[in-house]
Amino acid sequence: MSDPTHLSLAEARDALVSKKLSAVELTRAHVEAIEKARALNAFITETPELALEAARESDARITRGEARPLEGLPLGIKDLYCTKGVRTTAASRILDGFTPTYESTVSANLWRDGALMLGKLNLDEFAMGSSNETSAFGPVVSPWRRKKGDAFDDAKIVPGGSSGGSSAAVSARLALGATATDTGGSIRQPAAFTGTVGIKPTYGRCSRWGIVAFASSLDQAGPITRTVRDAAIMLRSMAGHDPKDTTSVDAPVPDYEAAIGASVKGRRIGIPKEYRIGGGAEINALWDQGVAWLRDAGAEIVEISLPHTRYALPAYYIIAPAEASSNLARYDGVRYGLREKGRDIADMYEKTRAKGFGAEVRRRVMIGAYVLSHGYYDAFYVRAQKIRSLIKRDFDEAFAAGVDAVLTPATPSTAFAQGEKGAADPVEMYLNDIFTVTVNMAGLPGIAVPGGLGADGLPLGLQLIGRPFDEATLFSLAAALESAAPKIDFPQPWWTETK
Ligand code: GLN
Repeated sequence: MSDPTHLSLAEARDALVSKKLSAVELTRAHVEAIEKARALNAFITETPELALEAARESDARITRGEARPLEGLPLGIKDLYCTKGVRTTAASRILDGFTPTYESTVSANLWRDGALMLGKLNLDEFAMGSSNETSAFGPVVSPWRRKKGDAFDDAKIVPGGSSGGSSAAVSARLALGATATDTGGSIRQPAAFTGTVGIKPTYGRCSRWGIVAFASSLDQAGPITRTVRDAAIMLRSMAGHDPKDTTSVDAPVPDYEAAIGASVKGRRIGIPKEYRIGGGAEINALWDQGVAWLRDAGAEIVEISLPHTRYALPAYYIIAPAEASSNLARYDGVRYGLREKGRDIADMYEKTRAKGFGAEVRRRVMIGAYVLSHGYYDAFYVRAQKIRSLIKRDFDEAFAAGVDAVLTPATPSTAFAQGEKGAADPVEMYLNDIFTVTVNMAGLPGIAVPGGLGADGLPLGLQLIGRPFDEATLFSLAAALESAAPKIDFPQPWWTETK
């Protein structure tokens, strides 16, 4: 068989079951691709031996006719998911030397269904960022390059964040799919930047247990893949009720794959007028194109209003840091990882946290502690929570009026280069989340689908936002967009060149 890393997850699954390919061959091809792609810095930890051992076991199961739904499929795991016996870093120095003695529920669900792990993927430190530049293990380089005439520019493009290792690995064909997490856009924005598909399911659809917490009321797990079908396959295994996470919802998980190819005729798609302002001319043109694609597929397009959209970003950047400052209080040099010597215990805490956390994490902890402190709590935190309710109400009203899903851009523009944004003013970076944070604030499902390439040759993505727990409708609409949009050719592996 030709290079098996070129298969989609669904194709690889079918090739394994029909014995056209073995899990060991498939895994070895990915392990070799990863070894040659170290210049991208997508993985923090590679686990080739574990992967090959699991692949041998999968082959034995397939031979016995006992294949499980994801049997023998090699995946990457964002290094925010705790993995039993494998170092977990959250891309932070503060977790130096931390090896969990337990497995996150979502990754355990994937292993239960037969998938195997290639390694742990790089990310922004504690998932705080939009470019993967805040990782203590260095930035991830996107496999995508900007066009310069007929050639390529040598600027290093960011793969988005915080799940930049996941999006880079999947678009560079280092894994068939990857897990990611999304607190304010960290699945959808990196997917949009790399021409991949990423879904953040409804809050409560996936268990958060064993995933390092950033902002607990916003965090959700989800997959990044190269096709909509692959995302549907992965999410079905990842989702489900977990008694260990009280916010996980006890509702059956549908067969999302069955939604691929379902008719979207008569579906009502809301176009929020307030989202016009957030992006550039190019993304707005793609948005119009997306509207046309869905209309051609038989959907009905209606203008809607989400009037509180403009307050979403400031409110998110109060709520997320507030929860982060409280979640990150546990990293005190006593229970986990790094410990710096101090004169007394308070000095030890301070030195450990000063050394262990990077600049962006320290900024968030300080903002969070400030907005929660006496005298500021009502002015900032309580007001942000009120805005959050209003944002949710905007969506509730649109859905109550019969809208099945909302179509928006995923990001304001194509990806930028390393160092290009946020160096002088962090708000410049935060603005990248303008189209995604509302979805987390309202707890809704959102999917990013590639729409084509910008003038600079880099991918652009559209976002569909759905009703709570109606991921199936998002998959059918996303599949309609995917089949209407120009096909994305993933980059040729320039990164394997040795200089
Ligand atoms: N970019 C956003 C932030 O920095 C979202 C991150 C995320 O979704 N984890 O907070």
